[in-house]
This record gives sequence, structure tokens and C-alpha cells, in this order.
Amino acid sequence: MSIVTKTIVCAALTLGTTTSVMANEKFNYVTDRFADIEVLRYKVPGFEELSLNQKKLIYYLTEAAISGRDILWDQNNKYNLALRTLLEDIYTNYKGDKGSEDFKAFEKYLKQVWFGNGVHHHYSMDKFTPGFSQEFFDAQVRALPAEKHPAEMEEVLRRLIFDPAFMAKRVNQAEGADLILTSANNLYDGVSQAEVEGYYNAIKDTTDLTPVSYGLNTRVTKVDGKIVEQPYRVGGLYSRAIERIVKNLGEASKYAENDKQRAVINKLIEYYTTGDLKAFDDYSILWVDDTDSQVDFINGFIESYGDPLGMTGAWESIVNFKNLAASHRTEVISDSAQWFESHSPVDPRFRKDKVKGVTAKVITAAILAGDAYPATPIGINLPNANWIRAAHGSKSVTIENITQAYDEAAHGNGFNEEFVPDAAMRELMDKYLFVTDNLHTDLHECLGHASGRLLPGVDPDALKAHGSTLEEARADLFALYYLADPKLIELGLLDNEDAYKAQYYKYILNGLMTQLMRIEPGKDVEEAHMRNRKLISEWALEKGAADRVIEYEVKDGKTYIKINDYPRLRELFGELLGEIQRIKSEGDYEAGRDLVENYAVKVDPKLHKEVLDRYAHLDIAPYKGFVNPVYKPVYDANGEIVDITVDYTEDYVPQMLRYSRDYSPLTK
Ligand code: ZN
Repeated sequence: MSIVTKTIVCAALTLGTTTSVMANEKFNYVTDRFADIEVLRYKVPGFEELSLNQKKLIYYLTEAAISGRDILWDQNNKYNLALRTLLEDIYTNYKGDKGSEDFKAFEKYLKQVWFGNGVHHHYSMDKFTPGFSQEFFDAQVRALPAEKHPAEMEEVLRRLIFDPAFMAKRVNQAEGADLILTSANNLYDGVSQAEVEGYYNAIKDTTDLTPVSYGLNTRVTKVDGKIVEQPYRVGGLYSRAIERIVKNLGEASKYAENDKQRAVINKLIEYYTTGDLKAFDDYSILWVDDTDSQVDFINGFIESYGDPLGMTGAWESIVNFKNLAASHRTEVISDSAQWFESHSPVDPRFRKDKVKGVTAKVITAAILAGDAYPATPIGINLPNANWIRAAHGSKSVTIENITQAYDEAAHGNGFNEEFVPDAAMRELMDKYLFVTDNLHTDLHECLGHASGRLLPGVDPDALKAHGSTLEEARADLFALYYLADPKLIELGLLDNEDAYKAQYYKYILNGLMTQLMRIEPGKDVEEAHMRNRKLISEWALEKGAADRVIEYEVKDGKTYIKINDYPRLRELFGELLGEIQRIKSEGDYEAGRDLVENYAVKVDPKLHKEVLDRYAHLDIAPYKGFVNPVYKPVYDANGEIVDITVDYTEDYVPQMLRYSRDYSPLTK
């Protein structure tokens, strides 16, 4: 697939160290922890300030979002909905000892199944392993009231849970296998990979310059020996869920902010009603063109990672609204783009005479659903159709309340205490890391990549395999250099001239040490963003050695980072920026290669092992996801909605049980 839609924003990848200046009141970010999962909450700041019309619009869009939940479960595996119903019935009917090992293992298993939207892990695609006995399970099934007995499904569900070889992997990508027959998803039924490929080859028009996304909203199966597509639409597959989505979209369209947005919603309704993929393309074009509305949403069959052939879209929805304060931040930076360019520490020959900053869009998520729930992306970059992107552009946004929740939840996981020995620095990080992380991302994305120019005749690909590492380093250095500039205080983006030190410390700590926790023992650094951070940090360590700018410190057998001279570190960032800009502008491949090979790749095995050991001791969950807030309409005496309230108190288990009870049209 050429388009990555689950964006990990370029520079914003932070693991574990950040906290927020907004952490004023007590908000319990962590709601559950089991297996390899931590479940968080997120706030929806700014919701209260929206107009009543916007709140109603969001409310109906969130109802449309939750209404599609069952679709994804069934797409993931044809027994998932029956399994979920049975497990929930056992769970709510259970009258035995809740402290028993079997029950605790059963509860953990159910929580995993909820998180995976089915019996497979959301990331590894492997089936979950039950920690409870088959005897326990059988006894619980027998104890169910007669009408809740799964009857003919009982045998296959038992196999699904206890036979590791049965439907072992949701998506199989192993070379040489029939990827469709060996994948346990429900996007294809009773057909082989060769049959499916033959079918699509026959119907695809390869001369079409604006092709529809074949297979995006269908299950492929055989009827009377013939391959057919069964569309997901009103009157087709998943009709009861789609009807409910359409009904709520219809309500939402009454409160559209403008005609453009209403046209988007109505086109989506047409697509759900007809299943016509041409209508989906028309919808996508309308959607990408609607940039004025504050409220926005996606709702449909979007990403195709769940299909080994990359065709059918997993159902998902995210409702959001523009974060005006954060978007103001990127506008201010963009408006000053020329000032930053003209003052950058690079040879004036390599500067742009006229630079235009990019305005990054920052949004606040109001609900996550389907494939975006509970595990969720931190950015959206859509639509996926290449010809629409080329002709009409795309929307690329970061979801700041989600990244904030990650950062807040990481506070208190012990990471800072383990790796940042200086209490004053920890306090500075608590106060300024979230703000400076965001500014770093803004400067990197809005200005860094856009700055500088090539000398005439220089091949933009001259740096070849090292191009992306050096490009990320260039953008990061631009951001790091300006984070310490008084200009940010003058522009009202920072209120403390020491704030940048929090970002500098974290950056160097990460680049020299803590990012190694994501590398397997014995391996080198390979990924471009990680190489870039290592390059910058190792280079600054070496070039500043004579002045002891950065030092390693070992206490009680543990290695720490000490930064002695922040102003000098800033100068070093400026010097390296000048050099990397020169390398890029002149296309100096050898110098670029030497920088990468000398500073960005090789890992010290002893330090690596130490970081892995220390990190393992912290027991931080590798995967995180979210529960949603609860939106409730407030009615007046005439039955009119006068407000929508938002509540954050619902926990993981009650939310899952409520969704299954109230938003499950496909199981009733
Ligand atoms: Zn970047």
C-alpha cells in the first residue's frame, strides 16, 4: 500500500517521558491494565465551548460511530459476535468465586477479546490464549439459562477458544501460503486466493485513470459455483447496523455547519444506501474539499490492513473538531516562516528567498469507533485513493487530545524517575515537555521540512539511502535550534526562557539511550527517525566533549545523561544544521553517508542491554487504547435538546458491556 493512513507523526514519536502543563486538575487517565494492554481515557477539551448546533452534530455523528461496532467484529472473524455474546453472558451470569484463578483468567481473556474486536490480537493478529480450563468453561456454559445457550454454535466456539490451530491468525502474510484460505478474517468465504485474484483481474479496467477502490466494501464468496461480491450496504450485508448509521447521519445532516458539510454527509448516506463505490469516491472528494467546517468525521470502510490482499476496508469512525488554540499556534509559526528562514544558521546561499510555512491541522477527537477503537491512531491522513490525493489533495491531521492522554498517562509510570535523576529537571519536564513536544513537531513539520533550497542542478535524490535520515535530522535540528530562540516567547508560544531545556534533555536522553529500548539485542539502529535522533545526539556529544557540554554519568551501576551547557548545545545544533543543509543543498553524498555511518547506526551492546533491563523493570504496557467519553442530550420540557453533556467516568468493562447491550444491531 502506498498510503500510510495510521500516521505516526514524523517527529512526535515519544515514548514514556512526557507530561503536560495542562495537568492541573486530577484526571484518572488509566482505567484498566491487563495482559500487554493499558486502557486510557481521553479528555475532549473545548467541547463545552462549541455551539449547541455543533454539539448536536457531534452527538449524532458519535451515535453513528458507535452503531457500526458490530460490523468490524464480524469482518474480523465470522464467529466473533457469537463468541462475544457467549463470553459476556458467562461473565454477567457468573455466580462463583470471583477470586478464583479460572475466573480471573476468564475475565482477562474477555478483556483481550474486547480490545481485539474479536478473538485475535489487534497488532500481532494471533489468537488469544485462554488461561482458564475447558472444564471451567463447560461448567459456565451449562449454568447459563436455556435461552442463552449457544446451541449449535457451542462446539465451534469451544474450538475457537481452545484449539490453537483453528483460525490461528486473522491476517496471514506468510510467503507461499494461500493468504485468503489461511487468514481467519471474514472478508472472504469459501474462495481461494487464486479465485479472488482471477475475479478482480477480470473486472478491473487497467486503463481507468480514476478507478474505484475495488472490493472496498464487499465480502467475496461463491454462489452456485460462481464468485460474487456481497456489498456492505442497506439491504445487503450488515444492513441492520448500516441502517442505524444512516439514520444517525440523517439526524446529523440537519445540524451541518454549512452546505458543503451537509453535502458530505448526504453523499455518505447515498453510498451506504447503494453500496456504489463511485459514490464513495464522490464523497471522498467532497470530504477533502470541506476545509471550513470545524467539526469533521470519518465513517466507513477505510483501511485495508485487515485484508491480506489489501482491498476490503475495515469499518471505522472518528468524530473530531478542529482545535482552534493549537491551530492558532501553527498559524503563528507559519506566518513567521520568512523570519525563521532568514535567521537560520545556514549559509545564505542555501536559504529560500521566499518560504511559505505549512499550517498543520490539529484536531480533538470526540469519539473513536470500529477499527480506531480501543487502539487508535494519533493522526489521520486520508483519503487513500491515489488519484483523489493527486487531483484533490488530502487531509492530514494530528489528534492532540489523544497524544496528550498518552503523555499524561506516562506520567507516573516510573520512566522519568528511572532515567532522569535530577528532580529539578523532572519538574521542568512535567511543566514544559508537552508544550515543547508540540512546538517541536510544529517547527519540524511546518517549517523544518519546508526550509532551505538545493543549488541549481543538484539531484534531489543525491543522498540516496541516507536521504530520509538526513532530511529528518534537518527538520529536527531546525526545530531544536529555534526552540531555544527568544522569538518563541515574543510570539507568545512559550512563557519561560528555560522551557526549551526540558526538550533538549529529553531529546539527548532519547537519542543516546532510551530509544534503544525499541531495538532488539544485537541489532543496529535502522529506522530513519531513530537514526536521525542518534545522529544528532552522538554528534553533539562528540563535538561538545572538549567543553563537556554533554556527559555520561554512572551512579550505582546505572548510566545517566548530564547536560552542562545548554546555550553551547544550541550552538552545536545550529552548526550541524548548517552542515546538513550544505550536504543537502550540494548533494554531497559522501559527507552525508559518513555522518550517518559514524553517528547514527552502531549500538553499544553494553548500554543497550542496560537500557533494556531497566525498561523491563518498569513493566510498561506495550499497547495502549482508549475508552470513549459518554455524551448525553439534555432535554427541555418540550423534548427539545438544549445541551449535550460529556462525561468521563465510564470504565472499560462497563463501556464494553453497554455498547454490546445498546449498540449491537447484528446480534439481536
Ligand atoms: Zn519529518
